[in-house]
This record gives sequence, C-alpha cells and structure tokens, in this order.
Amino acid sequence: MNASNKCSFCPGTKCCSYITEALGPMRSKADFEHLLWQVLHEGVEAYKDSDGWYLLIHTRCSHLKKNGSCGIYDSRPAICREYENSWCEYDAPAEEGFMLHFRNYEQLLKYCKKRFKTWGKP
Ligand code: SF4
Ligand code: SF4
Repeated sequence: MNASNKCSFCPGTKCCSYITEALGPMRSKADFEHLLWQVLHEGVEAYKDSDGWYLLIHTRCSHLKKNGSCGIYDSRPAICREYENSWCEYDAPAEEGFMLHFRNYEQLLKYCKKRFKTWGKP
C-alpha cells in the first residue's frame, strides 16, 4: 500500500462520509437543550476534543463515487485538497482524540443530568 492507492483500501472512504461543524462554547443549559434536539436526528452526533465542541454529521459527499474516488477531483474544495492521506483516519480513527463523544440523545441526556445538578428543574 502507498499514498496513491491507500484510499482504495479504506472501507467506506471514511473522510468523505461525514462533516463536522464547530459549536462554540457550550456552557448553559440552553446550549445543551439545543444540542439534544440536534442529536435526535439520524446521523447526528456530538463530540468534544482539545479544540472544543463539534457536531458530527454522517453524510456521504454527493461527489463520492461508488468506487471510492472523487467525482470532482480537479475542482474539489480546499479542505479536501489539504487533507493528507500519509497519516489519516485509516491509520487512527478520529474518535481516538475525542474527550467526550455522544452518539445519541440518551448518552447526551445522561451527561446533561450529571453536569447540571438542576437539569429538568425550572
Ligand atoms: S485519506 Fe485516509 S480516511 Fe480518507 S479515504 Fe483516504 S485512506 Fe480513507
Ligand atoms: S469533494 Fe471529493 S474529496 Fe471532497 S469530500 Fe467529496 S468526494 Fe471526498
């Protein structure tokens, strides 16, 4: 395996199968109430790493071809151009860097109840 053929071995072409969005500081109950609503949706998760809180949305790029190649390779966005496959999620899952990871509503609700002693109370 080398850099030019590595991606063809990557199950699901991992880095083209999700997006993330920074959430900004997560401090108040209202912040977490909003996040609870977001993770109720299919394919939406949340995590915190050393850079902060993020939404993680599992969704395949519309230009990802069935064979795992990019359908717009020459005009792909900058973030795709800048992503190096010399050390990527094939080698180490991004989840390894997560300090917190909530895959669903139930997991996040449990965290909210622990973090806010007055959760669920007016
Ligand atoms: S860059 Fe890495 S994670 Fe992305 S498709 Fe290639 S091997 Fe997979
Ligand atoms: S534009 Fe190409 S490289 Fe970028 S996410 Fe889509 S398929 Fe992957």
